[in-house]
Amino acid sequence: MRWSRTLIATLRDDPQEAEIASHKLMVRAGLIRKLSGGLYTFMPFGLRALQKVARIVREEMDRAGAQELLMPALQPAELWERSGRLAAMGPGMFRLKDRAARLMTLGPTHEEVVTELIAGEINSYRQLPCTVYQIQTKFRDEIRPRFGLMRAKEFIMKDTYSFDTSFEAADASYQAMYDAYVRIFTRCGLAARPVEADTGDIGGKWSHEFMVLADSGEDGIVDCPACGYAANQERAERAAAAPADAACPAIAEVSTPDTRTVDDLVAHFTCGADRFIKTLLYLADGKPVAALVPGNRDLNEHKLKRLLGAKKVELADEPTVQKVTGAPVGFAGPVGLALPVYADQSLKGASDRITGANKADTHIVHVDLARDAAVTAYEDLAVVGAGDLCPRCGKVLQLKRGIEVGHVFKLGTKYTESFDAKYLNDKGQSELMVMGCYGIGVTRTLQAIVEQSHDADGIIWPVSVAPFTVSLLLLDPKDAAVCAVADSLEKELQARGIDVFVDDREERPGVKFKDADLIGCPIRVVAGAKGLAKGGVEVKLRTSKSFDLVPVENAAAAIGKLVNDLTAALNK
Ligand code: ATP
Ligand code: MG
Repeated sequence: MRWSRTLIATLRDDPQEAEIASHKLMVRAGLIRKLSGGLYTFMPFGLRALQKVARIVREEMDRAGAQELLMPALQPAELWERSGRLAAMGPGMFRLKDRAARLMTLGPTHEEVVTELIAGEINSYRQLPCTVYQIQTKFRDEIRPRFGLMRAKEFIMKDTYSFDTSFEAADASYQAMYDAYVRIFTRCGLAARPVEADTGDIGGKWSHEFMVLADSGEDGIVDCPACGYAANQERAERAAAAPADAACPAIAEVSTPDTRTVDDLVAHFTCGADRFIKTLLYLADGKPVAALVPGNRDLNEHKLKRLLGAKKVELADEPTVQKVTGAPVGFAGPVGLALPVYADQSLKGASDRITGANKADTHIVHVDLARDAAVTAYEDLAVVGAGDLCPRCGKVLQLKRGIEVGHVFKLGTKYTESFDAKYLNDKGQSELMVMGCYGIGVTRTLQAIVEQSHDADGIIWPVSVAPFTVSLLLLDPKDAAVCAVADSLEKELQARGIDVFVDDREERPGVKFKDADLIGCPIRVVAGAKGLAKGGVEVKLRTSKSFDLVPVENAAAAIGKLVNDLTAALNK
């Protein structure tokens, strides 16, 4: 392919709205163009790289025994009513009506559609296990689309669904997908770390996310360098620390006008935030409960939701707080509270603490939680922070940031129950199929590669997913001898199956060098009159500072060897 005949334009300046390096580079290198918030066009180079990622995904899915199919993106909302997810998805799902006023959705994911399909197609244990996948556009009305392809309204996902006869068999399908994911990200040149994850609205029992470590990542990750435990912060647990507090005097009320937040309290009582017990009132599926965490910690709503087995937990509104505590927001406390009270495990044995008094402008001091309040249960409810201890080995945990590129779930029978997806076992009895689902954000993965692999000059593509493997800079496009060398080298490389992009523009060499670095193909070859006079073409890796002068007749073989070496290094 020749630059002079392509729709590619690199930009000197960063696009204004881009906050992270990969977004800036994808736009500047001419890979994507924005239509509007969260909607992007893949330009020819971007599409080539995307298709290479998709090809790797496809090869590994096929290798793991999954069959490709393609389901409609437009789905009847009635399916989502049957699974009970129509309400749970809320405004995150695009909804529209067809001409018969039937409510439809643009699929954010396909558990409902695939389970309905498989319920109709499979009826015997002989047809199981069955794993299907598709690579398809998904739609999500994200609250805050940002970071280019990272969080888009329309994006391409690879979604796989497995159906099995038993939980044990489903575990094997899960493991096969987990292993395939490890291979996919390795082949894409990405260091993606599997971490334990929350199952969110999709439901199910167990899941892992594949995270690309990056400071710009939207997810917090908890990591134990000692034993390898790693989890999304939403899910992460921590070891219980031993109760430390001693006995304390009897409780006493203290007037605290307008002192509602922990910061206000710290200023008022001039002591550390950990001396306070924060009492948070929640509605769990509409029923009020209280959750307690130390004043210096945040409550993890995912943990509370899991503990209560609730579909939805939300902070109670002002009137509810007033009704159940008898006080305005900011003065709730566990003493005398007639509600189920769940306390973070670190509050076990807590004494001489300060809490709200369930009375306007009043707090209570000298609270001994076990003595003065009725705690329903002590559980791990706080968000894990730096310095907390590993739940597996007790060593200190570290906090990192990551980009979620893939997610594997054990779903159990959540969806097969809703859609009555049953099969006849070898004794002729009807049983529910056991399901798993597995997603990769193909477009997000592409950008995560750029986020992980770039320098100040531009992108550094891993050889497996580069838009082109070689960029061949034709420095003197009017010089017939140089053109002839470039032409024949292009053909030789193509004959070896190496894709090459020729920069044949009438531009200064400096411009071409800069653009080659920005676009970031792994191998740069320079054909120019000066080099040829010295004996050949310059061959350089994007990652190295110096080039080799290679005689023209050896160039294709030398480049072929470099490609093989780069490929072998990726698959190691
Ligand atoms: P997130 O927590 O980032 O919103 P999710 O957990 O809702 O993602 P899943 O339902 O697990 O996403 O979807 C599978 C994969 O699809 C994710 O691992 C991610 O790579 C990708 N993905 C999800 N939402 C988006 C989006 N808005 N834009 C681009 N990719 C996305
Ligand atoms: Mg996810």
